[in-house]
Amino acid sequence: MSLTMKFITYNAKNFRQIEYLKKLPEQVKHEIEIVSKVLPFKTNNYVVDYLIDWENYETDPVFILNFPNRKMLHEKQYLEVENAWQKGLSEQEFQNVVNKIRLQLNPHPANQLTNVPRLDNQPLPGVQHKYRDIVLFFPSQGQTCHAHCTFCFRWPQFVKDLDLQFSMREIDMLTEYIKRNEHVHEILFTGGDPMVMSPLTIAKYIDQIFEADIPHLDTIRFGSKSLTYWPFTFMPDHSDEADDMLKLFRRIVDKGYHLSFMAHFNHPVEMENSAVQEAIYNIRQTGAEVRTQAPVLKNINDDPQIWREMWTKQVNLGMVPYYMFIERETGPYAYFEKPIAEVYDIYRNTIKYTGSLAKTVTAPVMSASMGKVHVMGVIENPLDHQKYFMMQYVRHRNVEETYKPFLAHYDEKATWFDQLVRADADMILSLEKE
Ligand SMILES: *Cc1c(COP(=O)(O)O)cnc(C)c1O
Ligand code: SF4
Repeated sequence: MSLTMKFITYNAKNFRQIEYLKKLPEQVKHEIEIVSKVLPFKTNNYVVDYLIDWENYETDPVFILNFPNRKMLHEKQYLEVENAWQKGLSEQEFQNVVNKIRLQLNPHPANQLTNVPRLDNQPLPGVQHKYRDIVLFFPSQGQTCHAHCTFCFRWPQFVKDLDLQFSMREIDMLTEYIKRNEHVHEILFTGGDPMVMSPLTIAKYIDQIFEADIPHLDTIRFGSKSLTYWPFTFMPDHSDEADDMLKLFRRIVDKGYHLSFMAHFNHPVEMENSAVQEAIYNIRQTGAEVRTQAPVLKNINDDPQIWREMWTKQVNLGMVPYYMFIERETGPYAYFEKPIAEVYDIYRNTIKYTGSLAKTVTAPVMSASMGKVHVMGVIENPLDHQKYFMMQYVRHRNVEETYKPFLAHYDEKATWFDQLVRADADMILSLEKE
């Protein structure tokens, strides 16, 4: 049977058309509407029809993952937007209120804007180069997603009107840059979600990379949540483009590149139905590897049982657990954040009981301004019973700084790296920022 799936977007403008929502109290819809003035809101018919358990929507992980709710803003902020909306301000006055609140939500954590490399003194559009051997590429047409996660740290780019002009120059400059930087051996296509692009568009980028024929470039990765938000991308029976997408993957592998699909799963329900399982199978048939990563989020997955189920399922479906992150301090993080100490406990209580093949994961990890910090454990000095976090950079701007364990004073409340005090020199860790 062949049934092409039609992609239907639901957002702040049309979400009331969702059939399941019609049965919910008006107050719930009103609150979605108010919060979505500030935070980006987008979901689709697959998520709504196949992933959400509408009987238990209030605690449903995928509902919380896609639908903004009142608690994602501070009560004061919520009331301010609601008030402004009901007062009937002019469009401009209302936007000023919204923008003020967005700025309170730390829109640019960890100095992401400072990693733009230069070629002959010109900044490279759509590229970040932070770690020696890998560049991130943000193709201009891939800067949206099939649905938006409410916790996402890339949220400011979804509320802007992006210029989606196709730009071959982007990839030209990038391949030239990689040619001149022989340490770079990986390109990671990211976004947004690069899998929102058509296979034809992606193929144009990939062909340009093939043509550049850079001997030290051996790995191509795609970071994507499409397995959760639109698995039909990889199901030829349900999408006209899936066959081309899978052929493109096979072409990359046949060219001799290592192709890794960096999948993002927040909860085991995202892996339960036959659509996602078939999509994973089809991707693996191309010779691509599928690796998985996700942050620990209060209200969605802050429970070792959930992570154990998630990693076990992933391994059973042939995927490789890669990173477990600590949620960044941006957007509605007050709603999602967990103390570092608790995330570490969740990790330990998960990994103790998982099968060997799930133990590939590096966790938990914070993507801080100098690099990715791995919380290796909590240790206690037997003489004075002082506790410490033992940590290391697994990625650092300066590769010489990686894999050197160091200690920070244990703090059960700290939720981010820069709240910790380094123990060996009693240095505030945030001083390490540039
Ligand atoms: C996480 C990240 C990467 C990829 O890191 P890996 O450890 O190779 O997966 C690359 N660039 C930036 C800026 C990152 O944050
Ligand atoms: S799919 Fe990824 S980039 Fe898109 S909203 Fe979710 S976390 Fe952000």
